Formats: sequence, C-alpha cells, structure tokens
Amino acid sequence: MPATDLETIVSLCKRRGFIFPAAEIYGGFANTYDYGPLGVELKRNIRDAWWQAMVRERDDVVGLDAALITHPRVWVASGHVATFNDPLVDCKKCHLRWRLDHIEEGQYGPVKRDAAGNVLCPNDGGELTEPRQFNLMFKTQIGTVADDASMAYLPPETAQGIFINFENVVNSMRRKLPFGIAQTRVSFRNEITPGKFIFRTLEFEQMEMEYFCFPPKDRENPAEYLALHKAWIDARLSWYRDTLGIDASRLRVRYHEKEELSHYSAATADVEYLFPWGWGELEGIAARTDLDLTAHGNESGHPLTYFDEETKEHIVPWVIEPAAGLTRTLAVTMLEAYTEEPDEKGENRVVLKFRPNVAPVKLAVLPLSKNEALRPFARKVFDLVRPLWMTQYDETQSIGRRYRRQDEIGTPICITIDFQSVGEGGQPGDEAVTLRDRDTQSQVRVPLSSLVATLRERLPGC
Ligand code: ATP
Repeated sequence: MPATDLETIVSLCKRRGFIFPAAEIYGGFANTYDYGPLGVELKRNIRDAWWQAMVRERDDVVGLDAALITHPRVWVASGHVATFNDPLVDCKKCHLRWRLDHIEEGQYGPVKRDAAGNVLCPNDGGELTEPRQFNLMFKTQIGTVADDASMAYLPPETAQGIFINFENVVNSMRRKLPFGIAQTRVSFRNEITPGKFIFRTLEFEQMEMEYFCFPPKDRENPAEYLALHKAWIDARLSWYRDTLGIDASRLRVRYHEKEELSHYSAATADVEYLFPWGWGELEGIAARTDLDLTAHGNESGHPLTYFDEETKEHIVPWVIEPAAGLTRTLAVTMLEAYTEEPDEKGENRVVLKFRPNVAPVKLAVLPLSKNEALRPFARKVFDLVRPLWMTQYDETQSIGRRYRRQDEIGTPICITIDFQSVGEGGQPGDEAVTLRDRDTQSQVRVPLSSLVATLRERLPGC
C-alpha cells in the first residue's frame, strides 16, 4: 500500500533529509522546497533513469542543455507572453485568491454557486471578483539599467530551448528524421495556487523531449502521426510502471477532450497518478504539429526547416512532446514506496520500498557493534563497495535500530559484519558478511570474495 496521506510523507522527508521547506529560519517561503542529502540523490536517480531510457538506450534521441535565461523574443514566438496566463479571482469576503479554472474543476471540493450560477469562494462561499489574467512567467533584469530592453524571462518550460536549437542539432549531429532532442532542467512558474507539497511549486524540474518527424501527407487525417503519438504514450506509461515501479492501478492515461485541446494540437494525453487527493497530471504528451518550429521561423526571420533528400524540399517537421515533471515524479516515487508493516518482532516498521535503481542509498555497512575488533574488516568492506554504489557506514546504536533507520530511507541491502566475519578468541574469521534484504528481512551469508558479484545481481540497474 502506498502512503495515503501527504502529511506522513512531508514529515518523513524532513526527518530523514529528503526535502526541507525552504528558508524555515526566516519563517519559510511559500511553495519552495530544498532537497536534502537523500532528496538530491533520489532526484538524480530518477533523472538518470529517464535519461537512460530516453537518450542512452535509443538510437534516435540526443541530449541538450540550453541556457536558462532565454532571449525574450523566444517567449513571444512561443505564445507565452500573450497567453501563458491563469485566470485569478479574489474572494470579496475572506480575500483569498484562487485560480478560477481550478475551482471550476472541483479541485477544492464541490463547486458552490449563487442563484445566477456564478462560482463562489470555496472557503466561505463569498462573492468572487471578475477573473483577471495573470502571466505565470517570472521576469528578471539583465545589466544595470532597468528598462524594457533589458528585461528577460526565466523559462516556464524547457521545450523552447530545444526548438531554437533544432538546426544546430541537425547540422552538428547529422540527424535524419525522425529523431528527438531531450533535456532536463529547472523551470519557473509564478503559481499562485497553494501547493500540495512539491506537486506544484514555483521552481521545479522537468524532463522533456521533442520528437521531430515527417509531416503527414494529409494534414486533416494524420494517421501515422497519431500512431506515433500513441506509441510515445505507451512508452512513457511503461516507464513509470516498469522502471520506477509505480503500481498500474494508480496510473492512467487521459486524452484531452476536443474543447480542452489547444487550437494547434492534433491530440494531447496526460499520464495521471492517483494522488491522495485524486487524479493529477504527471506528464503531458502533446502532438504539437509544426506550431513551434513555424512560430520561431516567423518571429526570427530564420526558417527552421529540414531538407528532405527524397523530395528535395525544405519541410517543417511535426513534433511529439512528452513533457514530464521530475520533482512531481519524485513525490509520486515517495508516495508509492512508503509502506508500514510488521517487523521480525511484530512491531510496526516504516519502509520505503524503492526500486534499487532509484533508492538514494543502495547499501549500508553495519558492524554489529562499535567493538574495535570489527572495525578494520568493516572499513575494508566499505572501501570495497563505496566506489561502486552509494553506501553509508554506521556503527552507532543497536543493530535493530540501524536496520529500522535504513528501512526508513529505503536502502535495499544492509551488509552486517560480526565476530564470525573477523574471528574471535584466537580463531580466524570466515571473511564473510551477512546481507540483509530490506523487503523480506531475510539474511544470507556471502564470502567477501563474491560480495561484489552478488551485489551486482541484487542491485539491477544501479
Ligand atoms: P498543471 O496542469 O498541473 O499545471 P501543466 O499542464 O501546466 O500542469 P505542463 O506544462 O504540461 O504542465 O508541464 C509538464 C509537467 O511539468 C507536468 O505534467 C508536471 O509534472 C510538471 N509541472 C508543471 N508545472 C509544475 C509546477 N508548478 N510544479 C511542479 N511540477 C510542475
């Protein structure tokens, strides 16, 4: 069973060094979080798993890391300056601010309306102001003179950095259609909605890929293009299920209705997860046609096209965009891994059952006690495994408590060193260690000589 309430995860994240509310000593900073020593490892592992599936294991996708501070006209071309807005309303009674679309979607519970059918404040049923459009992009200033010419935006998504480098990648990497460009990095959105922990934050990381393909022969009936879109939806869904280990019953694909679709989009589907408060988006997979390359070609006066060797024509490729949230996926990985169950003694234990590939710490080397006689061999084991896997060394407190601590941070294997390993009373040790499995709590003895080979088998993809 995954965690069913967010508070449990929020408190575990802080207690065990995954995620801290930002700037707590200054009273906190709304909708921002800091990733602690374990959070940074978990985030890196999820990002690496995505990069592995999307770039390293594919012949047709390459990576990119475009500048964060982007030319302001990029955001004009992309439509963000004109339309990346949220409709905001204020309650005239309690003065709380809301996103009208979120109230209408029922995100704050059943929608309250007055006799005329107007939506009312979810908090106290008060009358709401007329909606105002509020642009979500953060502005920044370049140089010392603060005027319009020096204004730039922080990126609200990673995609545009990919589009403006389309020609650079085609030319430098000799790419033929179809191919993709992948990028992971931070994005910024001035979200006013009170966040649900790291589900919605001002600053978050995304993992996006733009897959460029031949335009369809018939724009009105792009069957092959839609089949490719479907293939990407399937691939992404199975990544969450098979690589991250998210239970299939809490994942679904939701196709956008016609009215919900952007005017340019041929189809969009979201991969959604069943959060403790209901279904929410993890990733959007949009069939964006030729919108972006055409828009940048028009705005810059530099057409972004591809030379089709067969027809000897310059064409504008069509695009499929799987856009995932890294930090939101991290929240899901924590929720899914959280388990409470009886330990060997029948007492309650908390275990984070991460897949080994994402677990922040893979191994813990635990001498049975602080006894000096155990230390040299324990350090030898530690030195052997730590260049290969993220490993903790811990000799304080009872072994039972140390197992519990490792269970709570999701370490798949503990390596215990005891007197049988090092020898006692003049008797030589057997130079073997005990491996204790996080999930089954079973223990096996393994000679030092075959330790690395055994661990390789038991830590697939690490
Ligand atoms: P939402 O409807 O939840 O605001 P969106 O449709 O605006 O999301 P996209 O622009 O498609 O989101 O971005 C792709 C992914 O980036 C989302 O599926 C989500 O995982 C992540 N994401 C978007 N906004 C945020 C945010 N403010 N905080 C954390 N993750 C986010």
